[in-house]
Amino acid sequence: MNKERIDDLVDILAAEYDRAENTIAVRVQEELFKYLDKPEEWATMQYASLNSFRKDVKRIASEVLRKIDAKTEKAIILSYRETAKDAIEVTEREIIVKKLPESVRADLADAKRWNAEKVALLANVAVNNKNSTVRFISQTSRVDELYDAVKRQMPKGIENGVRVTYSDGSSRSWRSYMEMNIRTTLSQEATELQIEAGRDAGIVFYCCDEFADCAPDHADYQGKIYYNAESEMSDEIRAFIEEEGLLSMQEVVNGEPYLTSRPNCRHNFHALTVEEVMSGKSASKIVEDNGYKFGDYEEKNYRALQQQRLNERMIRKYKLRSETASKINGETSTRIMSPQREAADRKVREWQKRQRDLIRENKGILERNYARENAKLMAEDVGVKYDYKVVDGELEKK
Ligand SMILES: [Zn+2]
Repeated sequence: MNKERIDDLVDILAAEYDRAENTIAVRVQEELFKYLDKPEEWATMQYASLNSFRKDVKRIASEVLRKIDAKTEKAIILSYRETAKDAIEVTEREIIVKKLPESVRADLADAKRWNAEKVALLANVAVNNKNSTVRFISQTSRVDELYDAVKRQMPKGIENGVRVTYSDGSSRSWRSYMEMNIRTTLSQEATELQIEAGRDAGIVFYCCDEFADCAPDHADYQGKIYYNAESEMSDEIRAFIEEEGLLSMQEVVNGEPYLTSRPNCRHNFHALTVEEVMSGKSASKIVEDNGYKFGDYEEKNYRALQQQRLNERMIRKYKLRSETASKINGETSTRIMSPQREAADRKVREWQKRQRDLIRENKGILERNYARENAKLMAEDVGVKYDYKVVDGELEKK
């Protein structure tokens, strides 16, 4: 299993969420431009056309949902591949799913239900946002300056996206909420599947790989041996576990420090033989001998890696913003979004420079990854661009 792949899959989905939120935000702004030829009636007409606008947003939302569902399906299937290499084959042109277990099918159904709920929320909030914007503009602007007021509002509205207030009282952009959730779901799912498969295969011991750039609170837990509490084991093995004071995978996965199940963590469990673990070799020697030690831990490496990921996200974000601005210019046959496009392009160059500097300062530790700075390339890299077919019936797609 490759946790970085799962991170990539989440980032690909995040780009899709970003696009979805943008599409809806742009539609709201377009609507505000309607009826400006009769400024005295603008607000009234805006309120009167609310129902048809709501219908249209719902229609767009269902297209958005279809795209998100398609990417989600692929992400879940491909992340399952990371735990079961033999079950899925990715060729030059397609993804062939030879077997999809019941639990993965159930996950797909859950994820789709969840997507539908959240896309409906996105549409509702967007319609409400539009209404408050109409109220705000009509109360604060004179009739003869209405066009300028709406024009000024446009980049702001797109920039802010669709902010949603959640049950815990926090207010976040819709996209970041979606991203956080899928990241947690995929990480946890990957670990659960691994623990289950290991139990069925009778594997007792695992080690956790060791990185030079691990999260500070995982540093004490990496490079150690763990056991699967669900696996069958002899009295001798039980005595060994007790004597060595080993922790179970379940303990460190389902509770603090959420080893391997936490978003943004690259850690992974690797199966070991009972003979090797009980041979008297130390844990660190076992981890090293099996090739699971990648450099010596230093906290500053972790910070550098996190900074690189942040730079990549920012580069992708401003590229998308520039793309959106060009698209609106094209659709409206105006240059209305040109200042925003130029500002976004400047931001892209600014973050690219930061990235170059960071990589230079961390030679030998970080490596520039251009695919991660471009949502499309990243999707190609992971295989998301391919269509897939499931061979064991159902879910047939092609
Ligand atoms: Zn970790």
